[in-house]
Amino acid sequence: VKRAKRTGKTETYQPQIFAIAREQFAIETELRRAIEDGAMSLAFQPIVDLASDRIMSFESLARWTTESGERLSPADFIPVAEESGLIVPLGRWAMDEAARTLALWDKVAGGHCGVRIAVNLSAIQLQRDHIAAMVRETLDRHGLSGDRLTLELTESAIVGDPDRVTRTMRELKEIGTTLAMDDFGTGYSNLAYLQSLPIDVLKIDRSFVTEMLGNRDKLAIVRAILSLAQALGMKTTAEGIESPELAQTLGALGCTYGQGFSCSRPLSAGAAYDFLLERNA
Ligand code: C2E
Ligand code: MG
Ligand code: MG
Ligand code: MG
Repeated sequence: VKRAKRTGKTETYQPQIFAIAREQFAIETELRRAIEDGAMSLAFQPIVDLASDRIMSFESLARWTTESGERLSPADFIPVAEESGLIVPLGRWAMDEAARTLALWDKVAGGHCGVRIAVNLSAIQLQRDHIAAMVRETLDRHGLSGDRLTLELTESAIVGDPDRVTRTMRELKEIGTTLAMDDFGTGYSNLAYLQSLPIDVLKIDRSFVTEMLGNRDKLAIVRAILSLAQALGMKTTAEGIESPELAQTLGALGCTYGQGFSCSRPLSAGAAYDFLLERNA
């Protein structure tokens, strides 16, 4: 603003800043209401075991239909939720909804429905919320054991306070959950944390996977991540598999799991359960 004043452009800049702040506030207000009023939902995308082609789990992905009927992408509202702190109630809601859905599938199946559920955790949640207690309480309330849940963390989760995050991750392991490092390869690649943290699965980011068959550099990165995971005794999930050929190649390279539009797009809870019955029959 100071510089704008000097150049005499105050009039054009300041209203813009206010407009952005107003817009941000409007989104926050609507997001807060959406979490309270049930305008949020979860979509579920299958993750398959590449060797057996069976569905092992579903990743839950937040969906928001605004009051004007617009469907917003998590890429747009998760950052707003993180900046405003609303990610804490949103994350609690997502955990509860995912657990409720899995318990419902078990009930319909008349026992263990055969899959686990994956929930994304934001770095902010790990810093601010008592995640382990919240996860344990949610699982208990829905009668689920810890081994039914995978928690997906990003590399940014480790950056803030590594000691605290390490403690939290150990607590989550004590509950029996599986820990996956999401979007691996795109963040702050501090390899030292990889061997010191209790990570079970590396999820290879789709920016390397989707085009790896026509791009030698991407293929090289995928191979390197696969051998790194293997050496550290971790499993791997490839994201962004958009063709059966890609799934086959990744399986042959030793990648454990796969996820992508080639198998299925994210589905509603009901459609996901029907898909599970059909595919794992
Ligand atoms: P993510 O955790 O890496 O989730 C995978 C994203 O890739 C999803 O996007 C999914 O729809 C998309 N995807 C899956 N297969 C393919 C494919 O074959 N091709 C392409 N092009 N895309 C594919 P979505 O649902 O838009 O979610 C985006 C991100 O938002 C997620 O990335 C995750 O970081 C975040 N997110 C979503 N739900 C939640 C949530 O409940 N909590 C938190 N903290 N973050 C969430
Ligand atoms: Mg994820
Ligand atoms: Mg991911
Ligand atoms: Mg991703």
